[in-house]
Amino acid sequence: MRPNRPIYLDNQATTACDPRVLAAMLPWFTENFANPHSVDHAMGRAAEAAVETARAQVAALIGAEPREIVLTSGATESNNIAIKGAARHARRVGDPRRRMITLATEHKCVLESVADLVEDGFEPIVLPVRRDGTLDLELLQDALAEPTLLVSVMAVNNEIGVVHDLAAIARIVKAAGALFHTDAAQAVGKIPLDVGIGADLLSVSGHKLYGPKGVGALYVRRRPRARVAALFSGGNQERGLRSGTLATPLVVGLGEACRIAGLEMAEEAVRVAALRERLFETLSRDIPGIVLNGHPTRRVAGNLNLTFPSRSAQALMDDNPEICVSTGSACSSAAIEPSYVLQALGVDEAAALRTLRIGIGRFTSAAEIDTVARAFAASHENPRP
Ligand SMILES: *Cc1c(COP(=O)(O)O)cnc(C)c1O
Repeated sequence: MRPNRPIYLDNQATTACDPRVLAAMLPWFTENFANPHSVDHAMGRAAEAAVETARAQVAALIGAEPREIVLTSGATESNNIAIKGAARHARRVGDPRRRMITLATEHKCVLESVADLVEDGFEPIVLPVRRDGTLDLELLQDALAEPTLLVSVMAVNNEIGVVHDLAAIARIVKAAGALFHTDAAQAVGKIPLDVGIGADLLSVSGHKLYGPKGVGALYVRRRPRARVAALFSGGNQERGLRSGTLATPLVVGLGEACRIAGLEMAEEAVRVAALRERLFETLSRDIPGIVLNGHPTRRVAGNLNLTFPSRSAQALMDDNPEICVSTGSACSSAAIEPSYVLQALGVDEAAALRTLRIGIGRFTSAAEIDTVARAFAASHENPRP
């Protein structure tokens, strides 16, 4: 390893923009900058065609129709439209259902969207998870005993990598007549996903699948129609659901990222999982007592969430400034706070502060994995706490 050359193992926070994605985007910054909604002239129509190609590429990756894809600025916005938009529509049409069910381990933007609806008279139910991060389906079944408007369960957790059983969850939710939303930001392009399992609303983020930041999508089922109200007022782009001029280069990048993922995802998952196993086996051998958080097998290929036996996450990161990993916690302040996701698993605060999230991705090499394994083993031997 050359000094000052960081090793990036934080692929759950964001992924590098694939060079092929960047190449596809560039002409839409330079040669054709037209507004894709300006269909009066040739440049505008060419931009519109590029947007529609991208929309079809997003749709194809999740088994949707292109017209079911609403382009947004990312998964945060998609989750807000899905949750608050469903609530807004229900109130508008006099639907009396007020219950909204989600999980304690969801991304903040889901938890906060649901919490924000309390002031509008909605009733959030935040279900706990098991020690391994999975959901007890009986708890979901019980919560659905009251009429429920929407259930939001993520496809893959961003801290512990747990893959939820969306098909089983969707069956229960649909039998109860509720809308089923899934935040699939960590799943799209990583595991096979098909909206045919019963998703009504599904959120995508460009920068989690080697696309650009600032773009995403929301799948909105057409048959039967999932009804959500818009949150933005404006020019009624995206069939009225998301006003605002589309960012053609970013949308094209999202489409290209989805196209590449569709072709390479299966092979990539095998390679990435092998790197993860190699790192986990080496660390388990060299650091006795290291603990893997989250279900051991129902997890996405690139994620390791490890509690170290003695040294803090901060100390491990301070020892190894060239290695980019994270604590997985929402670090809005300077001090590291224990992750609410780990706490939901029942990991105590002290153990949570000894936990690192390691995200392996498309551009991780075996040499980097070996360097990181050696570096963390050396840090573990370091007597400083
Ligand atoms: C990254 C992420 C988000 C937010 O996505 P943005 O596109 O950055 O807004 C939401 N949910 C999960 C699970 C994520 O990993």
